[in-house]
Amino acid sequence: MKTGRVKIKVSKSLETKILKGHPWVHYYQVQNGKVTGNPGDLGVVYDHKNRFLAVGLFDPHSDIRLRVLETKTPRDIDEAFFRERIEQAVALRSPLQAAGTTGYRLVSGENDRLPGLVIDRYGDTLVLKLYTEAWMPHLPVFLQALEQVAPAERVVLLLSRHVERTKTTGPAHGDVLTGLPLEGPVHFTENGLVFQADVVAGQKTGFYFDQRENRERVKGLAAGKDVLNVFSYTGGFSLYCFAGKCRSVTEVDLNPLALAMAKENVLMNFPDRARNENAFMQVQGDAFQVLSEFKRAGRQFDLVILDPPAFAAKKGHRANALQAYLRLAKAGAYCTRPGGLLLAASCSQPVPARDFFRSVSLGIRQTGRKERALFKSRHALDHPVTFREGEYLKAGCFEVD
Ligand code: SAH
Repeated sequence: MKTGRVKIKVSKSLETKILKGHPWVHYYQVQNGKVTGNPGDLGVVYDHKNRFLAVGLFDPHSDIRLRVLETKTPRDIDEAFFRERIEQAVALRSPLQAAGTTGYRLVSGENDRLPGLVIDRYGDTLVLKLYTEAWMPHLPVFLQALEQVAPAERVVLLLSRHVERTKTTGPAHGDVLTGLPLEGPVHFTENGLVFQADVVAGQKTGFYFDQRENRERVKGLAAGKDVLNVFSYTGGFSLYCFAGKCRSVTEVDLNPLALAMAKENVLMNFPDRARNENAFMQVQGDAFQVLSEFKRAGRQFDLVILDPPAFAAKKGHRANALQAYLRLAKAGAYCTRPGGLLLAASCSQPVPARDFFRSVSLGIRQTGRKERALFKSRHALDHPVTFREGEYLKAGCFEVD
C-alpha cells in the first residue's frame, strides 16, 4: 500500500534531541501549523535550514504525532529497511537461545529503532503488538521482512487499547496474521524451565519477560527458604524458587486465571511440589489486604517477592506511586523473618529508580528494621534502553535484619 508524506518542522532544541536519539515528536511540538495526513504516512522532519533531519511514522490520532525511524540520511522505508532493523534486534538476543530460553522480547519498540512496535517470541509463536495505528499500512511489507529474518509458525497481532479505539480498518486484536491458527496457550522455555502463556487474554503479551534475570538471581537465593511471591501472575518467580530448591512457595494474586495458569506451570515442571499443599500454596486476593492479614496472624517468610503492576502511568502519579511502594515494602517487611530477604520491583516508567529505592528502604525502616541491599538491577538484554523514557524497570533485593 502506498503511503503519503507529511512535512514536519520542530524547534531547534528538539532537532538536537532527535539527532541524539530521541524518537518522538508530540503534537504540541509540531511547529508548522496543523499538519494533516493518514496513520502510517511518512513524516519527514526538516531542520531550521530546511535540510532533511529525520523520517518516521505519522499518526494523527496519537499524542505522539511522529515516531522516528531514521535520522540524518534519507532512506526508503521498505522491506530491506525493516529487515536490517529486525536483524539487529535478533543479533542482540542471540545469547538467550544458548541459555535454554525460547521466550523473550525480540523487538522492543523505540529501543530497537522500530518505534511503537513490540514483538515477543514464545517458542514458535511471535506476538506482535502495535502501539500506533501508523504501522497498519506497513504491516504486509514488515511481515515479509520478519518472515525472512525470524521465521515462526504463526504471528499473532495484539493492539494497544488506544489503537483498538481509534483504528478504522485492518486486522483486529488477537488475529493470526500469518501461519497456523492459535490453539490454546503457547509453550516456551526460560532458562530451561517450561512455561505456558495465554498470548491473547493474558497481561502484556502473555508473560513478563522483563523479569527473567531477576528470577534467575532469586533462584540462587532460594535454597531451603519459605517464599512469599506477591503479585505472582503466572508463577514466573515461583518456578525459579522451586528450581533453586526452596522449601515452599505461597503465591498471592488478585486474578484467579493467573493463579490457575501459575498452578499449571508449577505442575509442568515440579509436579510433586505442585501437589504437596505444604510446598505450594495460593491465596487469591488484594496484596495489601493479604499482607496485613499475614502480619496480624504472625505469618513470616524467608524470602518475600513484591512485583506489582505499574503504580504510575504519568508524572502526575509519581508521588502517590512512591507512597504505595513505601506501604507495600513496609507490609512486605512485616512478613519477612529476621535476616530474611525482600525483593521489590517497579515497572512504573515515571518513577525514577533512586526515588523508588528510597521509598522501599523507608518502608522497611518504618517497621523498625534495617536493610542491606544485596543487589539492584535494571533492564535485561532483550529490553535495551536507548532513550530516557525507554527506562522503566528497577528491582532491589534487601536483607532485612
Ligand atoms: N511477578 C510476575 C508479574 C506480575 S504482574 C511475573 O514474574 O510474571 C502483576 C500482577 O499483579 C498481575 O498478575 C495482577 O493480576 C496482579 N495484581 C494487580 N493488582 C493486584 C492487587 N491489588 N493484589 C494482588 N495482585 C494484584
